[in-house]
Order: sequence, then C-alpha cells, then structure tokens
Amino acid sequence: MQSKIESMVVPGVAELKPYQPGKPIEALKRELNIHQVVKLASNENPVGPSPKAIEAIRRMSLDFHFYPEGSAYQLKQRLSEVHQRDVTQITTGNGSDEIFGMILKCFVQSHHEVMASQYAFAAYAIATKAHNAKFVEVPAKAWGCDLEAMLHRINENTRVIFIANPNNPTGTWIDTESLRQFLKAVPSHVLVVVDQAYFEYMQTADYPNAADFLDEFENLLVTFTFSKIYGLAGLRVGYCLSSAKIADYLNRVRLPFNVNQVAQVAATAALGDEEHLACSLQTNQQGMLQLREGIAQLGWSSIEYTANFLTVEVPNAQAIDQQLLQQGIIVRPLLPYGMSNHLRITVGLKRENEILLNALNSLKEVQYD
Ligand SMILES: *Cc1c(COP(=O)(O)O)cnc(C)c1O
Repeated sequence: MQSKIESMVVPGVAELKPYQPGKPIEALKRELNIHQVVKLASNENPVGPSPKAIEAIRRMSLDFHFYPEGSAYQLKQRLSEVHQRDVTQITTGNGSDEIFGMILKCFVQSHHEVMASQYAFAAYAIATKAHNAKFVEVPAKAWGCDLEAMLHRINENTRVIFIANPNNPTGTWIDTESLRQFLKAVPSHVLVVVDQAYFEYMQTADYPNAADFLDEFENLLVTFTFSKIYGLAGLRVGYCLSSAKIADYLNRVRLPFNVNQVAQVAATAALGDEEHLACSLQTNQQGMLQLREGIAQLGWSSIEYTANFLTVEVPNAQAIDQQLLQQGIIVRPLLPYGMSNHLRITVGLKRENEILLNALNSLKEVQYD
C-alpha cells in the first residue's frame, strides 16, 4: 500500500536537513575499535566542566522522582546578579537551541520570514524550517554578515533576524558601533536575536555585549549558553536576556520543565567559578596561538582567530577529515555549510593540539587527492 505519510508532512519539515553534529567520541571508538580519541569538532571546552559544577551535582539531592523547579529560580537569581538584569528579563532553555524555537513559536507565523546570513550557524535555518516559516539567507560579505544587505532585504513579513556574534563556523564578528547602527536601522516589527554563545571568550575591546543595548531596543533578544566556556554542553542549558515583555511570552510557550534539575544546579555553580573561567580562557589563548602558528607553518590560515575555534582553508578538506578520523582525531568538515574547502578546528589542550598538528604534518607528505 502507498504510504500517505509524505503527503501529510508540513513543507518546511519535508525540506529539512537534520543538523550534522560533530562525530561523537564513542561512535569513532566503536568504529575503529580504538581507545584514544581527540575531539576538536564541536567547540566544547577542553578543560572540562567547572569543578564547582561537578561538586554541586555530587552534593545535590538525588530526589529525582520530583520534578525540577520549572522556573529555574536559583539559576535565574544568579544570572540576574551576573548581568545586572531583572529576573523577569531572563528565559532559560534546554540549550540556547531550544530558545530559538521558542522565539519562533511566539512571534513567527507561516507567512513570516526569518533572516540570517549565508554561513550563519545552521540551527537558525533548521528551527525556521521546522516551524514551517520562510528562511531568507542573505549572501555573506567576507564570510560575515553583510548588515547593509540584510537591512535591504527586510520587508513587512520579516519577523526575526538571527545574528551569531561571533559567528560559528566562520569566526567573523560585528563591532560595537556597527551593531548599534544596525539595531537603530532595523524597524520595530523585526526582532533581532544576537546569539552570544562565545561571549565569554571574546576579549577584544571593540566586541559588544548586545545586552548593553536592551534598554534602548525593545525588539532585541540576546542568547547565551553554558555549552561553551562553562563546559556543560552535555547538560543542555542556555538562556536569553530580553525585555520583560518578550520574556513573558517566551515563558508561556516554554515546556514546563525544560531545564532539568542537574543542569540547573551545575549551571548555577559554574557561574560562580571564576577560577575555572580564568583557566579556560588562558588555556584557550595559549592553544589558539599554538594552533595559529602550527597552521601557518603548514602554509594555511584561518578566516578569523576569535573565540575557541579556527576555520582553516585546506587543499582537500574531505580527504584530510577522513585521514584524521583514521588517526582518531575528529574535526569538523564544513561541507554542510557550503564551505567545501574548510575545516573547523576547536582549540584543544596543548597535548591535543600537538597531536592534531603532528597528524596534519604527516598528512602533508601524502597526496591529498
Ligand atoms: C555552540 C553554539 C550554540 C550553543 O547551543 P546550545 O544549544 O546552547 O548548546 C549556540 N549558537 C552558536 C553560534 C554556537 O556555536
């Protein structure tokens, strides 16, 4: 019998290509039957989670038969102190990824358009298509957002613009003045979501915290995550700062217990761990230098050297990726982004960076294609 399922699925979902995450460490271990794997593929913190977060999890009540506190009370209290914002302006999510979907649920109907730049973080297009709205991709300028072009593409149906600052996978970023001018020029019927997943890694004076503009622009939302420098990607916690009005709507569609108890406790503790933060930053700065020099010696370069990853143009990305996998090293080929000559490499620990550079050096000897 002919299946009816295909004719029933909503069009946005039918054309959806699932997000391709970095290969999990355990998957490669099983495939190659090896024990040592170096994963530099998903921009995770190589230092690991904050010891304070681990300790808080150890100490927490194991009463897992009770539901978590849906409002994430303690976590929001801490976030409110850290960001000097009212708790009513905070929305917590099962990763910032979940919050993107919540924003669309609240504000985007099927005739509306959601905009992002070419090479923008893939989650925006996926969330939009899953929501069955129209995704508008604006051609990039020098791998980054062409803010002028984005402004030109706004029409009465444009509802949300997603901007990752800095962007993953290109590492490109928008400076304070450019962001402010852009926010000023965006009409008030368009929400601007600035995704600051790498905020804590950004040490450049000219890099803006978009949350500083919240009082000025009612249509602004800023997302953050515990998946990157806080080292809690596996627990899934992110949050959004916005006006209290927007946060109120977001919290109406939030699944009642979206952030689990373990994640709430760990994230709250991680926020207070200055030592872990400083150590992670320092490890990243040194690792970035090490990789930058090593890559330069190979005659290669990265689009940018921001946050905790490099986006390196190489002679044959697919072949190099495959050969690295054979050696137990996972990086991220960017073919799904239409960047067939680039590999994204997460800054690892000194030893991990060394292993990668040695492997790349040995590959240099062999033919790439
Ligand atoms: C890693 C990353 C995130 C984090 O997503 P979570 O769902 O919070 O893990 C968000 N945005 C960008 C651009 C990222 O690179």
